[in-house]
Amino acid sequence: MRADLITRITVCLRPFRAAGPRIEVERIGDKRVVHNYGHGGSGWSLSWGSSTIARDKAMAGGTREVAVIGCGALGLTSALLLQRAGARVTIYASERLSDTRSARATGSWSPDSRIADAARVSPDFPALWEQMARTSYAAHQTYVGQVGEPVSWRDLYLLRDKDEVERPDPPNAIDFIRLDDRLRDLVPRSHALTPDQHPFPVDEARRGTSMTFNVAELAHRLTTDFLLEGGHIETMTFHSPTDLSRLSQPVVVNCTGYGARALWNDQTITPVRGQIAWLPPQPEVRYSLSYRGVGVVPRPDGIVVQSYGDSEMFGYGIDHETPDRAEAEAAIATIAPLFARARNLP
Ligand SMILES: Cc1cc2nc3c(=O)[nH]c(=O)nc-3n(C[C@H](O)[C@H](O)[C@H](O)COP(=O)(O)OP(=O)(O)OC[C@H]3O[C@@H](n4cnc5c(N)ncnc54)[C@H](O)[C@@H]3O)c2cc1C
Repeated sequence: MRADLITRITVCLRPFRAAGPRIEVERIGDKRVVHNYGHGGSGWSLSWGSSTIARDKAMAGGTREVAVIGCGALGLTSALLLQRAGARVTIYASERLSDTRSARATGSWSPDSRIADAARVSPDFPALWEQMARTSYAAHQTYVGQVGEPVSWRDLYLLRDKDEVERPDPPNAIDFIRLDDRLRDLVPRSHALTPDQHPFPVDEARRGTSMTFNVAELAHRLTTDFLLEGGHIETMTFHSPTDLSRLSQPVVVNCTGYGARALWNDQTITPVRGQIAWLPPQPEVRYSLSYRGVGVVPRPDGIVVQSYGDSEMFGYGIDHETPDRAEAEAAIATIAPLFARARNLP
């Protein structure tokens, strides 16, 4: 685990909305627009569930001709679900999935990561979130065990030293809502390990099991499935909602992610910057870990090393996507000692 092995550094902006994702219908001219954006750090995790709700809203009027704007995690899952419900679907987007922000995600099941502000959500949000999370969880399971491992289960080591102090959140910090307790019956739990049960030179270790998205394979799979099942994708950029009049379809599902801030002038979207340092893939490494604010996720397309900082406010309000080499090297320096001194690592 060395900084001179970094193959690339990618940056992405989480589209955070204090009230949670926008999944609602709006009329623009002669179009019914179903919004499906603003999923913070949970877009892949909640994709199928959120898009199921968007699909039902889109199909409610009986229309069979649907346009989807956006080709990220939300756009492709919406398009596939609409198509499988009998609609003829065209995706219009500036970028295909491999160039979207979705392609720069960590690839972990994280359904309540920066999904909303506890103080700003409506009373029915927790139940809606649970519905989205359970639907998504079930859909993701159907990809486990497939060639290319689009979705897999990995051991996750949660590592801690006794000298780590929890820093108080900065003043005016968002109270990011925590909802994972609602899924206690669904998601495997972590267990404390004794020192002889793990190889890491740390004071405390827990082992859990984490659902991991091989984003490169998943992107390819979703795109291929959509096209094979009769869908079309066109490159098109929209500059304002009135541009929708260019489309022939009466129903439009808007999955523009962070792009909705500019396109829909939705100032309730706040960027939360996140960066990944990529190391070459090591197929023999099959576990994720988290240590001193750094996460490591081994994927077939590379080993993801990401700084989480000391709170979920890390990156909040920052909208630049310029790679920061010093941040990447610091993240690797934090975890390198784990491997230098680890005993009998697989
Ligand atoms: C560092 C980082 C790590 C993350 N890790 C995870 C994780 O492990 N698990 C998880 O669940 N989530 C994770 N996320 C969050 C996740 O990446 C996002 O929630 C998700 O990518 C949002 O997907 P989307 O489809 O809404 O938007 P995008 O992926 O941004 O796609 C938007 C689409 O809309 C198109 N578009 C936008 N504007 C226009 C326009 N004006 N005209 C035409 N087309 C337009 C774009 O071209 C693109 O095709 C992470 C985010 C970051 C930043």
